[in-house]
Amino acid sequence: MTLHAPNHLENLSPDTMVVAAGRPAREHDSPVNPPIVLSSTYVGTGAVVDGDRAYGRYSNPTWDPLEEALSELEGATLPALLFSSGLAAVSAALSLIPVGGVLVMPTHSYQGALVMAQEQSAKGLFTLRTVDIANNDEVIAALTGSGEKAASMLWLESPTNPMLEVADMQVLCRSAQAVGAIIVTDNTFSTPLVQKPLELGADVVLHSVTKYLAGHSDVVLGALATSNPELRSTLLHHRSIHGAIAGPFEAWLALRGLRTLALRVERSQASAVELAQRLDLHDAVERVLFPGLPLDPGHNRAKAQMNGFGSILCIEVAGGEAAATAFVEALRLWTPATSLGGVESLIERRRRHANEPETVPANLLRLSVGIENVEDLWRDLEQAFDQLSGPQ
Ligand SMILES: *Cc1c(COP(=O)(O)O)cnc(C)c1O
Repeated sequence: MTLHAPNHLENLSPDTMVVAAGRPAREHDSPVNPPIVLSSTYVGTGAVVDGDRAYGRYSNPTWDPLEEALSELEGATLPALLFSSGLAAVSAALSLIPVGGVLVMPTHSYQGALVMAQEQSAKGLFTLRTVDIANNDEVIAALTGSGEKAASMLWLESPTNPMLEVADMQVLCRSAQAVGAIIVTDNTFSTPLVQKPLELGADVVLHSVTKYLAGHSDVVLGALATSNPELRSTLLHHRSIHGAIAGPFEAWLALRGLRTLALRVERSQASAVELAQRLDLHDAVERVLFPGLPLDPGHNRAKAQMNGFGSILCIEVAGGEAAATAFVEALRLWTPATSLGGVESLIERRRRHANEPETVPANLLRLSVGIENVEDLWRDLEQAFDQLSGPQ
């Protein structure tokens, strides 16, 4: 199916692009939305050439509009690549590191990405250097190697999960380029509406489409976008051979979710700022981690490189782990669950996961602010705090 390419014609703003990109070409009686194509194979005779659909592990017409839309949004010059999950995209991205190379990665990277990198480095595939990504000197020393081998890949995640540290993206990208490292940025927390890693210097941008892009906690999907033809062709080959492909129904659902991304991000970001300010003043909260607060260590960097501050915030609850757990159990509207970026507000004590780094405090709760009415969200938090301080 031919796709309509509005961006090339009209230079649209991103909040229009989420609605307009990835539509079928305008022909009489063509559908407004792309259809779901369920076929594991495609008709063909003669030699299979590049770009042929050929077989369902190589391509599916249902992927195309979403790959096109994600690429337009990230400002990539080539179509994005969908994967069966964010972690499948991580796996493909890590495969770009040459055997014996060096990976520099934030200590507080997404847990699954960190575990994968640790396991691959333990096998001897590459050397892993974990760093405080907010500390430029430490990251640059790890990139150059200070006498040891220089980095082959810089992994960026900013703000980090769950500590919400903000990396100095442009400075770190320049340092990584100077040593010839490939730069991969996990942009899941920010979405392309809030942060554009390719413009800040990254080579590859990664998404767990599961989160904000799909936006309704009903899909698991991942994506990579790049403007580098060689990197894209290696990643595409990895997907075709390792087989972590998107289901057509998931791709269709994610594109449907993407249509409202701008509205969802606008609403949840505004609510996150409001809630962070109120939580910051609450006696039962020891600390709020959120780059949107003026005194947060990442505030100025976030302001310079993001369009907003995202809608994830963390709090440390007074009274330690037990109080944090009791608080989550006392909530009625916020849903206790892992994951983030859906329309519904979720909350989770991160250290309940065995693999979570010990540098994450035991009383830390991660809040993914959804699109509910902010006063309802606040009332629920307040009543749960009241239960903590009330008679036990
Ligand atoms: C969830 C997440 C992932 C992994 O994505 P899945 O779709 O769960 O496989 C990677 N990075 C970040 C920042 C995430 O939040």
